[in-house]
Amino acid sequence: MEAFSFQNGEQYCEGVALSAIAKAVGTPLYVYSRAKLEQAAAAFRAGVEHTGDVHLAYAIKANPNLAVIAVLARAGYGADVVSVGEMNRALAGGVAAKDVVFSGVGKTKAEMAAALTAGVGQFNIESEIEGEELADVAAAMGRVAVAALRVNPDVDALTHAKISTGKADNKFGVPIGDAADIYDRLSHRRGLALRGIALHIGSQLLSLDPLAVAFTRAGDLLRDLRARGHAVTHVDLGGGLGVQYRADQPPPSPADYGAMVARITADWGVTLMFEPGRVIAANAGVMVSEVIRIKPGANHPFVIVDAAMNDLARPALYDAWHDITALRPDGERMTATIVGPICESSDTFATAREMDTVAVGDLLMFGATGAYGASMASTYNSRDMVPEVMVDGDQWAIVADRIPADTIMAAERVPDFLSA
Ligand SMILES: *Cc1c(COP(=O)(O)O)cnc(C)c1O
Repeated sequence: MEAFSFQNGEQYCEGVALSAIAKAVGTPLYVYSRAKLEQAAAAFRAGVEHTGDVHLAYAIKANPNLAVIAVLARAGYGADVVSVGEMNRALAGGVAAKDVVFSGVGKTKAEMAAALTAGVGQFNIESEIEGEELADVAAAMGRVAVAALRVNPDVDALTHAKISTGKADNKFGVPIGDAADIYDRLSHRRGLALRGIALHIGSQLLSLDPLAVAFTRAGDLLRDLRARGHAVTHVDLGGGLGVQYRADQPPPSPADYGAMVARITADWGVTLMFEPGRVIAANAGVMVSEVIRIKPGANHPFVIVDAAMNDLARPALYDAWHDITALRPDGERMTATIVGPICESSDTFATAREMDTVAVGDLLMFGATGAYGASMASTYNSRDMVPEVMVDGDQWAIVADRIPADTIMAAERVPDFLSA
């Protein structure tokens, strides 16, 4: 079944009209297709599994909804997490602790201890000092932390600066030139079992070239480490594969990516680990929003919708493009600037966009928002937390409630000293 298709003059997710879900749940909201998640998970697996022994860890931050994690856990995916909160979601969604990779530059000692207690399969260490701390925490618990050393290969991922992570001046990993010496020193630490290296150079990569350069450098380091006597058994190649947001910017396919990986890693003799996020979830979700008002503008009208940058931050954060289409287009076109109600000019989803003609009360769909959509949502301007729905064939369910602004306010209080 096609995930998002046009039937009887309107937009469907699998077998359900999006307008019916919007009517029942209210807008704005996110809608995910179970079938599309499964297709994307299978396509990525098919792209890379011929490279040998592979371990797939879905990057929870792309879309941490429990139902999404449950679909991917059933598809055989582990999880890449960067906080205890994400770890607990992965476990609650059905991922086995041994299939969890704990990444991130800021793991606290409390998080390390919690992850050791849970039994996560691998820590990706981002600095020598973090490795020393992890070793100490594990030794004090009478445990051994299985780990990989994240290296920074100093390559330009050719993506948006705010989602580049593999340049020398980014905060991630240890400089690749220092990695072998750091690995030597950490390998002597009680409480730590280093089994390999990890890297992740950025997100929304539309060219395989930077990845190929980074992986080649990782291969050189692998040989150096083996020459120094280390038994390197795992290399974690991270995530980062881009998706299609705009018709004129096609990404490499998982098959192209897998072919490149196979070429570079053919003689590595390790378990390859992958941490895809966006490529799994982005195209499995849309955001639906209603037009509140249409206001004249200097050049083009403003279409004011009930979703805002707190619900979908990518345009404000990264100047990102999302296709915006009417759920029930009438065939007419207009040029407009699409904005939300928040009191910032960055609350703009599209500027001078050629789009379906819409009127007050019409519903719009924001495409490819399944990744880094709801997961980055906030309640800025005391707006409700956006709800999420999953569709499976002809059935659908609310998989995250709308959290009313009043519920969030209920967690606040005016202290006694203010009423004195
Ligand atoms: C964000 C992140 C990922 C996932 O990136 P995508 O571009 O969504 O595939 C994987 N690994 C690490 C360490 C990350 O920080």
